[in-house]
Amino acid sequence: MEKAIHTLPRFSNEDAARQYLETLRWPNGAVCPHCSRADRQSKLHGKSHRAGLYSCGHCRGQYTVTVGTELQRSKVGLHKWVYGTHLMCASTRGVSAKQLERVLGVAYKTAWCMARSIREARSSDSARKPPAEPAVGRKTKLGFLNAGVPAPLSDFNRALR
Ligand SMILES: [Zn+2]
Repeated sequence: MEKAIHTLPRFSNEDAARQYLETLRWPNGAVCPHCSRADRQSKLHGKSHRAGLYSCGHCRGQYTVTVGTELQRSKVGLHKWVYGTHLMCASTRGVSAKQLERVLGVAYKTAWCMARSIREARSSDSARKPPAEPAVGRKTKLGFLNAGVPAPLSDFNRALR
């Protein structure tokens, strides 16, 4: 039963993480961040496109699920953000940047910045409940990440020791 939850694909695989984020941010299908329309959105396929790229049939804008969030320009893999968020939200005792550094295999400074962003997102209004609108505002830029995080898991406290 101690099925290692950290072996979930979204915690180790960039594409799986992106798909996971898409279901969190767009539970009813992609919404254009430029013109806010939800219809005529199509996913672009092929090698010439970045993974997870969408195109809007109204404004012709292109976007991915991370647009408008801190994740957009982050050099850290999406799966590390997903995992880091999960760890921080699932732990009842809190997770330090030092622990994130070790578990995620990122530089301490990176871990520190991630921890700060995730903490900020958690303290925002949208934390822990699915936002009605995609969270792209300054304060809720990562809020949508928290929507998919279950209640604290004691397993994580053990895993982080
Ligand atoms: Zn659009």
